[in-house]
Amino acid sequence: MSKKTSSNTFSYSQLSSFKNCPQQYKITYLDGVRKSNESIEAFMGKRVHEVLEWLYSEENRLKPFITFDGLCQTFDNLWVDHWHKEIHIADTHKNSDYYYSIGKRCLSNYYSRYGPTFDQRVEDIEVDLKFTIGDHNFRGIIDRLDQPEPGKWIVHDYKTSKRPKTERQALNDIQLALYQIAVEQNFGKVDEISLSWHFLRIGSEVTILHTPEQLEILKKKLIKMVDKIYNCLDNENNFIPKESILCHWCYLWEECNAKVGPNPVKRAD
Ligand code: SF4
Repeated sequence: MSKKTSSNTFSYSQLSSFKNCPQQYKITYLDGVRKSNESIEAFMGKRVHEVLEWLYSEENRLKPFITFDGLCQTFDNLWVDHWHKEIHIADTHKNSDYYYSIGKRCLSNYYSRYGPTFDQRVEDIEVDLKFTIGDHNFRGIIDRLDQPEPGKWIVHDYKTSKRPKTERQALNDIQLALYQIAVEQNFGKVDEISLSWHFLRIGSEVTILHTPEQLEILKKKLIKMVDKIYNCLDNENNFIPKESILCHWCYLWEECNAKVGPNPVKRAD
């Protein structure tokens, strides 16, 4: 992406990467560097998401109930099948068993709340949508979309991270605001959309409804964020490294102007 063209498509991950560190954004999305390295937190989060995707698969939705053993077995299989040599642990006091058990706890919390029937009105899972805001094109993948009654929608997002959001933070969150806009533009009858975060580690949830005015403010914020990226494109040096604690979870040290050598964080065993 060198200039502003209508073919550029943005995602929440891109905006978040640019906000955290413009240099990381450049290396990943402009230079196209992709690494197989990942943090154990990301690895665990992906496996939990996959289990919940399996849980609401078309086949499972037809079943009257799902056992917790079934959930655990699926998690174990996914964990083993996807394990690889480039998984890293930034916290030297923790090992892979610790993160495995956090993943299990996330599933146990979810099961206690919704199992064994899981009878929500699921429209679809991993919903991949294209949409526009202003002149900008976006793409987003929604973890789960429910339609409890005609015209009423619920966007669900699963989080395995440590800290839950407060309601105030949820109201200012751009990720699910993006998904709300995506649903509005892609589904015929939309009377109401609620946004629901599942903080799986502690088994809590936050659900909000935006007023049209709040959504308008978030749209302006999103347009500003994209404009900021375009403003940097004239000169590669504009994508300055922003060093922070997040560097521990970044595997682009060899490409980064602020670092020397690879990220020294230990490999998971
Ligand atoms: S190591 Fe830190 S400063 Fe460098 S690209 Fe990654 S996050 Fe940015």
